[in-house]
Amino acid sequence: MRIVLAAAAGLAAMLLFLLGFSFYQAWAQEKTLYETADSALFAQLAQAADEMAAEISQKRVDDAQKAVEEAIARGLQTRLEKYSDELLLLVNPWNEVPENYVALLSTVEDGYLIDRRCADALMAMVNACREAGNLPVICSAYRTHEYQEELYQNKIKRLVAAGTAPWDAPQVAARSVAIPGTSEHQLGLAVDIIDENYVNLDQYQQYTNVQKWLMANCSDYGFILRYPNGSSDITGIIFEPWHYRYVGVSTAKAVEASGLTFEEYLQTLE
Ligand SMILES: [Zn+2]
Repeated sequence: MRIVLAAAAGLAAMLLFLLGFSFYQAWAQEKTLYETADSALFAQLAQAADEMAAEISQKRVDDAQKAVEEAIARGLQTRLEKYSDELLLLVNPWNEVPENYVALLSTVEDGYLIDRRCADALMAMVNACREAGNLPVICSAYRTHEYQEELYQNKIKRLVAAGTAPWDAPQVAARSVAIPGTSEHQLGLAVDIIDENYVNLDQYQQYTNVQKWLMANCSDYGFILRYPNGSSDITGIIFEPWHYRYVGVSTAKAVEASGLTFEEYLQTLE
């Protein structure tokens, strides 16, 4: 009887132990699972936080960059508006007609178009030149980009036909017919005037009565001879004793008095 009791007690103790052990094992397994899950989750959260921080700092950099770009664009726009308002917009081989430039035009004689701010001044100048006994003829005024392109391509063809090497022709052409996008005629503020008695666009045009009169009087009407003799290194364009640019009377007088090219004169205003 005692043996049976002892055996039963032993069996019960063993069962209890086994039960306890299996509970412990289950608990320990779950604990490990939790710990693994926690560290994985933690790593995930840490990575997300890092990414968010990187995103925020990148956004700060982007915002700062954007602010700078916007300030520059605003500055350029203001400058464009100011210079456009003041008729001082510089267009030459190194300064293209601004992309958003809109020429507001008026028709003058023979259907030529010109910036409406100088249409009256142009006709006053041409008429005064006639009253002085001369025969001025407007031969070019406002040009569209497409028309400038046509003129430029024609010039290249003529040069090649006359013996200029095809690979040199575009550059040579650009000295007398501006590369499209860089012609003052696209602004509507430039006009070519020749003498009916001598219609060639070459340096001898300067000796005609029309040019003599215009060179002496154009500033009274707000025009300057834009490409004077010996200034092509600065203007990028050959001597053109027929191309007049409207800048307004006060600027025309100031440019004339300074003896500078328009490019140099603008630099004195910087
Ligand atoms: Zn011209």
